[in-house]
Amino acid sequence: YRSSMRMGKTTRRPPPKKPSNNQKDPVGVYCRVRPLGAEDEECCIEVISNTTIQLHAPDGLKANRNGEFKETQYSFKKVFGIKTTQRELFADVAKPLVEDLIHCKNGLLFTYGVTGSGKTYTMTGSPGQGGLLPRSLDMIFNSIGPYQAKRYVFKPDDKNGMEVQNQVDALLDRQKRDSQTSVPKTPTTRRTDPEFADMISPEEACKAGGVDEDSSYSVFVSYIEIYNNYIYDLLEETPFDPIKPKPPQSKILREDQNHNMYVAGCTEVEVKSTEEAFEVFWRGQKKRRIANTQLNRESSRSHSVFIIKLAQAPLDADGDTVLQDKSQVNVSQLCLVDLAGSERTSRTRAEGSRLREAGNINQSLMTLRTCIEVLRENQMCGTNKMVPYRDSKVTHLFKNYFDGEGKVRMVVCVNPKADDYEETLLVMRFAEMTQEVEVARPVDRPICGFAAGRRQRNQAFKDELTHRLEERGGPVDGESPTVLNQLLQSFHPLPPCEISGPNDDVTLPRLIEALEKRHKIRQMMVEEYNKTGKIITLLRAQDSNLLSKENFIQEQRGRLGEKDKMIQNQKNEIDRLEKKSKMLEYKIDILQKTTNIYEEDKRSLQHELESREQRLQREMSEKRRMETRMQGIVTDAKLKWEKECERRVNAKQLEMQNKLWVKDEKLKQLKAIVTEGKTENRQPQRPSREKDKGEVFKTRGGGQAVQFTDIETLKQENPLAASRKRRSSETGPDGEPMERNWTDVETRCSVAVEMRAGSSLGPGYQHHGYPKRRKP
Ligand code: ADP
Ligand code: MG
Repeated sequence: YRSSMRMGKTTRRPPPKKPSNNQKDPVGVYCRVRPLGAEDEECCIEVISNTTIQLHAPDGLKANRNGEFKETQYSFKKVFGIKTTQRELFADVAKPLVEDLIHCKNGLLFTYGVTGSGKTYTMTGSPGQGGLLPRSLDMIFNSIGPYQAKRYVFKPDDKNGMEVQNQVDALLDRQKRDSQTSVPKTPTTRRTDPEFADMISPEEACKAGGVDEDSSYSVFVSYIEIYNNYIYDLLEETPFDPIKPKPPQSKILREDQNHNMYVAGCTEVEVKSTEEAFEVFWRGQKKRRIANTQLNRESSRSHSVFIIKLAQAPLDADGDTVLQDKSQVNVSQLCLVDLAGSERTSRTRAEGSRLREAGNINQSLMTLRTCIEVLRENQMCGTNKMVPYRDSKVTHLFKNYFDGEGKVRMVVCVNPKADDYEETLLVMRFAEMTQEVEVARPVDRPICGFAAGRRQRNQAFKDELTHRLEERGGPVDGESPTVLNQLLQSFHPLPPCEISGPNDDVTLPRLIEALEKRHKIRQMMVEEYNKTGKIITLLRAQDSNLLSKENFIQEQRGRLGEKDKMIQNQKNEIDRLEKKSKMLEYKIDILQKTTNIYEEDKRSLQHELESREQRLQREMSEKRRMETRMQGIVTDAKLKWEKECERRVNAKQLEMQNKLWVKDEKLKQLKAIVTEGKTENRQPQRPSREKDKGEVFKTRGGGQAVQFTDIETLKQENPLAASRKRRSSETGPDGEPMERNWTDVETRCSVAVEMRAGSSLGPGYQHHGYPKRRKP
């Protein structure tokens, strides 16, 4: 119900069907557990935490299901245990909705549960323990109390809209109302019915914040009942006929120009206080009770809807009266719904047949469940299934809360008794599903363009005016309805005007006389009125003159204030900029210093680099010089050694040649001896064995070499040669010369080998003149 948008703004605003924001909130589902009744023993519900309850299957049920132990847990936005007071519940559940209402946002709050679970107790309450409804009303009036518009300034049209009446029309309407009511109402006397007196006096008053003082507010209430899918207006004033009571007429739902649903022709009562509002509610409640007994209805099967409409509009520029602009009127509404019992069967007539049980299924609750189911499916799966709102009046009426925007909250009431267990399970399932449905969050309304503080200024001005008028002893400004009332009452009542028969000569003349008297009074009053009217117009003119001047001054003051503010702002800005510039300068300074340090570092590093490079260069050249020197040394040494080697080889060769020559010489001598001996047949003197065998001499390298001179030595070296030697020695020295030559070669080689082994030139040194193989 975005009634506020309906106010002639449709041409300027986009259609309200699609909310302009895409923020969504899940339906707030709360759970309230009522205390166990005195006659009930078994408790099936346990509050585990402030968000979770646990259901235990009652003993009987457990036995039926083979002793199966069943426990299920359900979570809610909040769980209220048996000790929760009405005030606590209100603070959590309804207070935010009332705050929203005052800030032009719509809300829907309903109680759901089995009959006897505490729905009505939660919504309405009991004496001394007012429920959510009276507390909401109280909070509303506490908040907007001093800013309420006079009665009939706001006037509902018959199309779910709200008009602003001009002051005169509103006054006339007020006078009409006063003359109609038998006892004139004065706001000071509180005529509260003792039946509900202590339901509407909560311990402490709640108050909404952020009430716009420059707006005027008005509260309208409606109360309807939906039974068997028919809507009844509980506030409709129908003449009561005790002889033939007329059955109440049902109402129909209509869609307004913004596609919001409303009950066509439903009574909307403007109320000015909690007492008055609750009295209206109680009137409806009584009517409901009477109708239910008269028509033999079962009250647990009906839904009751209490609608609180709040109209608000900005005061005009003077802050005196409500702005006469329909487009500036905002209407928000809070629906408080006490749903029918959710059980499938009738409680009071429990012995009914199966057929009647089936018939008793509350169709509207079924539809509600289906709608929630489809909504949830659409939202979760992205489907676009049609939600069957139209299938029942309840869902159809609240369609816009789910389709459009608003805040929806549900209090699930549960009775922990065993009998209710199975129904409670169903309630829990519905609650779980409902929590998953999301509703678009209402957006904030734009505020009007007038300067704030208009009401206060106007009030101050009026006070001042009154004060001055009093000083001058003149009439005090303001209406005096009591004078008018007195005047109205001073009229003599008209005589009976029913003509008793054709011969009645008394009634008509008497009536004429009375009427003439009244006419005379009227004329007198008109004259009086005209006279005072002239004075009043004069005064008014003066007043308005003064007012306009005062306003002008005020305006100028306002402008001056604005300019002052501007100057102040600019000063602040300059200050800020100066500070900023100082800050930046400081930063620059620091950066400069840092740069210098780095520059210094860079220079020293460069210096170091250069010196290192120079050193490197120097070392390189040193190395190169060393290299060439070393190369020179190496070649020198090489040359020296080569020469040395050559020299040694030559020496050796010479030596060897000498030795060879010596041996040859010896051999020659031996030959000579042998040949001599043969010829002389004389055994020559044999040289000593040691001497003959070989000589030991020192090699150049420090080693030792044995130069064998005896043939016997060779026998070890070469067995073949040895055997030959032996043979030759056995046979005597008379072998062929060829054989001797061969032995000589062997010996020579052996000498060479030995020489090499003792060579000081080392193992790697090989001279071209020597054989590589050591083995003979
Ligand atoms: P429903 O409206 O769901 O059928 P009622 O609100 O009429 O149930 O409650 C049935 C009875 O239980 C009433 O007598 C009521 O006072 C009592 N009751 C319900 N809830 C509570 C509660 N939280 N604390 C105390 N009494 C309660
Ligand atoms: Mg009830």
